[in-house]
Amino acid sequence: MRLSRYFMPTLKENPKEAEIVSHRLMLRAGMIRQQSQGIYSWLPLGKRVLDKVNAIIREEQNRAGAIELSMPTLQSAELWQESGRYDAYGKEMLRIKDRQDRPMLYGPTNEEMVTDIFRSSVKSYKDLPLNLYHIQLKFRDEIRPRFGTMRSREFMMKDAYSFDLTSEAAEHSYNKMFAAYLRTFDRLGLRAIPMRADTGPIGGKLSHEFIILADTGESEVFCHKDFVGFDIPGEHTDFDSVDGLQAIFDKWTSLYAATSEMHDEAAFNAVPEGDRLSARGIEVGHIFYFGTKYSEPMGAKVQGPDGKEHFVHMGSYGIGPTRLVPAIIEASHDDNGIIWPASVAPFDIVVINMKAGDQACDDTCELIYAALNKAGKDVLYDDTDDRAGTKFATADLIGVPVQIIAGPRAVANGEVEVKDRRTGARETMTIEAAINRFVA
Ligand code: ATP
Ligand code: MG
Repeated sequence: MRLSRYFMPTLKENPKEAEIVSHRLMLRAGMIRQQSQGIYSWLPLGKRVLDKVNAIIREEQNRAGAIELSMPTLQSAELWQESGRYDAYGKEMLRIKDRQDRPMLYGPTNEEMVTDIFRSSVKSYKDLPLNLYHIQLKFRDEIRPRFGTMRSREFMMKDAYSFDLTSEAAEHSYNKMFAAYLRTFDRLGLRAIPMRADTGPIGGKLSHEFIILADTGESEVFCHKDFVGFDIPGEHTDFDSVDGLQAIFDKWTSLYAATSEMHDEAAFNAVPEGDRLSARGIEVGHIFYFGTKYSEPMGAKVQGPDGKEHFVHMGSYGIGPTRLVPAIIEASHDDNGIIWPASVAPFDIVVINMKAGDQACDDTCELIYAALNKAGKDVLYDDTDDRAGTKFATADLIGVPVQIIAGPRAVANGEVEVKDRRTGARETMTIEAAINRFVA
């Protein structure tokens, strides 16, 4: 992508409305724009990051055996009357009428709809286990939307729903998502700690929130500090192994970890003082096992091996991609801007032409840009006629992991500089060496 032809409306000044660093940097880097309170557009740079986050979420959901579909944002109130949640869900639900005066709503979550899909076509235990997910916009009319897309009214959620014949099988499904979440957050460059959680309006028996430690987090959390160094389940984790997944779950729940709603002061005080971590955190994922809470009222049942009908045991599993993007920034930035983990960076490399219009600089940059593109890299080429200082500041602000800098003096020697955004380390090398480093 040539910056001269891109749309990346960066800001020099700090926007006044932004209270936390991620919100400030997302606005300054031109990633998002507020359209009305708690409702955002994702501008091209932000959209690139969001897409990369979603791609990782999707890969790990698929690896764990979940199947993607897409359900609509608008739902009929009838389904929610069946489950009893139409009245129970308060003002957070945006209720709408269509032209025939039929009550509709903008989905805050999809348990009812997915249960309806399930009951209409699954009739036998032989079709279980089943886990269906989508990545879709949700709407919750939050009292205090704030911190940009961290807590917005319209936001994106990956929500998965599992269906099983028995509660034991449902626990295995829960453990699959538990392990998939550990892997997902790790690949996003985050350390998320599963904490026992309240089941809230979704209801149910077993629930964990995945929390990232951050000073600006809205939750107060308490945990054993060893969680920070625990191993993440590997790429070859066998998601069909009941015992293997139970062992992962047992390990990751073996030490104290709870949010303030579930906090047990006495249990926490039993942790040796030097191992106690009491901090603030951001909830980036939440998983629930709720048994037959929806399948019973909505009549979602299958025939078991005993020939009888059984209400299915369900769980639901949410991750917030539009919250994860600012959460990643909270965890990874410096005074100059964002520092993206390579896995979600909007571009892999930015090529900075320090003197656009200078034949040697232009030729060198074009050569590098073409070679890296050909190798399948996402490259941003700053070919604008801005001053070098402005270009450096922009490159640092948007946080692309690698900068290749071509200035007239180095280029005259057949060289460029390669800068690592995270460490700030700069290395001078030949043009060929710079290309080979990233093309290998
Ligand atoms: P919170 O406690 O932060 O209000 P929640 O418990 O109501 O969130 P869940 O129903 O558990 O949210 O939703 C699953 C995930 O969706 C959350 O873990 C979070 O990542 C994301 N999410 C929920 N509400 C919002 C929001 N208003 N803005 C952005 N992401 C959200
Ligand atoms: Mg939650």
